[in-house]
Amino acid sequence: MNKIEHIGIAVKNLEQGNNLYTSLLGEAPYKSEEVESEKVVTSFFKSGPNKIELLAATDANSPIAKFIDKKGEGLHHIAFAVDNIFEEMDRLQKAGFQLLSETPKRGADNKLVCFVHPKSAHGVLVELCQEIK
Ligand code: ZN
Repeated sequence: MNKIEHIGIAVKNLEQGNNLYTSLLGEAPYKSEEVESEKVVTSFFKSGPNKIELLAATDANSPIAKFIDKKGEGLHHIAFAVDNIFEEMDRLQKAGFQLLSETPKRGADNKLVCFVHPKSAHGVLVELCQEIK
């Protein structure tokens, strides 16, 4: 794991989320992107060297809609940058972590991603992400 790549925050409405985080951080999001496979629309903010990802559901069956129903808006996941997602997935699986998918998926921001189940990380949804070159 190289560093925290971004922090994901679940919001009900992306436009409202964008407005609020633009005033909070003093800068508008630098990109917005829909991830159809996850039924979410995302936007990315920079805060110095760090990134914040806002995620809103595009469908009632989206994992983000389910998360908000259960827990409300707020901190959703912490993403770590990795060089080789396959190696990291293998390492974590051997160490007893439960992964949410067998193979990496294509995520937002040109990344291959895989999630670690919050049950195996003290309640935190952990995302691994590897830049697609
Ligand atoms: Zn993320």
